[in-house]
Amino acid sequence: METAMARAPIALTFLGTGTSVGIPVVGCRCGVCTSADPRDKRLRASVLVELPSARVLVDAGPDLRTQCLRAGIADLDAALITHPHADHVCGFDDLRRFSIGADEVLPVYAPASCLAVLRRMYPYAFDGENRYPGYLKPEPRPVAGAFELGGARVCALPVDHGKVECVGYHFDAGPGSRVAYIPDCKRVSPAAMETLAGVDLLVIDALREAPHPTHQSFGEALDVARACGARRTWFTHIAHEVAHAAASRSLPGGVRIAHDGLKLLLP
Ligand SMILES: [Zn+2]
Ligand SMILES: [Zn+2]
Ligand SMILES: [Zn+2]
Repeated sequence: METAMARAPIALTFLGTGTSVGIPVVGCRCGVCTSADPRDKRLRASVLVELPSARVLVDAGPDLRTQCLRAGIADLDAALITHPHADHVCGFDDLRRFSIGADEVLPVYAPASCLAVLRRMYPYAFDGENRYPGYLKPEPRPVAGAFELGGARVCALPVDHGKVECVGYHFDAGPGSRVAYIPDCKRVSPAAMETLAGVDLLVIDALREAPHPTHQSFGEALDVARACGARRTWFTHIAHEVAHAAASRSLPGGVRIAHDGLKLLLP
């Protein structure tokens, strides 16, 4: 008998789960970079988030074209950017495929300081003259706090990540369907921790076991997961010091290491 299934309000697909250089690291012959485990192959960090009525991408790194082909992404309603480090914005021009029509624009949500960097990097896209079909036509949407998008309430979460202004994003599509994506951070702000309280799915920067000046270690990421009471936690932005299979065995229940291609559904 066929039963009516409620449509999942949010689906999250990991397009890349690697740190800035990608894994394998060019020229490295370490055990992880030469691993046969497909979960040890990590493109630059990015996710596709399917909200109740919109498909959005978070970050547009140098692997974006490959990631769109691999995941079969043919259309997008918006892009959200966390911060202007190269591993999160150097594929920005490849978003051109999602503003194909002459009058079609792609909303790009980011902190104002990040949009300013994007304007400097890609002036031709922002100068208003570039209206040809198939060219990149971003529509800047500065974020500060919460906004509505695709049937969800989205909130930019300020985090510390070295000198750059950086945010994560919290997507709230109703009870049981709250997702936070924080790919780069050293410390989550108290304001962001309030928003994260009891989050259903936390995806967070956990570079490796050893400390790093601008990224969280596994221990720091576990502390955040515990402090906010996340129901499930997935680590991302993973370095080549982390072998997926071995490192997964050391994690407590409810906490796992993400891998490229993984798709999660909520509720
Ligand atoms: Zn990064
Ligand atoms: Zn390596
Ligand atoms: Zn970064």
